[in-house]
Amino acid sequence: MGWYDADIDRVIITEEELRAKTAELAKQVAADYASVDGLLLVCVLKGAVMFMADFSRELGKVGGPPAELEFMAVSSYGQGTTSSGVVRILKDLDRDIAGKHVIVVEDIVDSGLTLSWLLKYLESRSAKSVDVVALFRKPEAIKVPVPVKYVGFDIPTEFVVGYGLDYSERYREVPYVGILKPEVYQR
Ligand code: 5GP
Repeated sequence: MGWYDADIDRVIITEEELRAKTAELAKQVAADYASVDGLLLVCVLKGAVMFMADFSRELGKVGGPPAELEFMAVSSYGQGTTSSGVVRILKDLDRDIAGKHVIVVEDIVDSGLTLSWLLKYLESRSAKSVDVVALFRKPEAIKVPVPVKYVGFDIPTEFVVGYGLDYSERYREVPYVGILKPEVYQR
């Protein structure tokens, strides 16, 4: 039992389902990028960190091209659990991405506002190609159309935690994805 189990109302996606889906996504990407000599994976901190760690290792195991791992941190101005689309870079890429095949490794596409901004940013830095792999998508919430080539799970428009996703910086270490009990928000 983890300390967090008592705070979870219901599990949406189990560890086993996360593992299986990550392997499936890695296989698709490895097949599509079989002819390139390298990939640059860009993880958006902090929510996508677990997915980045597992996806990159899986990509290697299933025969994907050599990968470089980059991390960015962005903050969208907004209150609480909604996002506004105005994005500030908290941590930029460490290196030049010009001429590289880039894959953005995202945790969740909600309104799509953050991602839409990020794609424009990466293109402005002259990446050779940019694709997105997102573990989760909330289909009803999409406000701007974003081309997400690889999607793990479509989930309902509810606030989820675990596997990197937080509520007030907590619950990121939860190994599965779930919904919090309503009383947690009253604390
Ligand atoms: P968007 O700009 O697409 O609305 O917001 C995307 C970001 O908001 C995600 O990368 C994620 O960090 C955060 N986010 C969106 N939905 C959820 C959610 O249900 N739970 C958590 N913990 N974060 C979320």
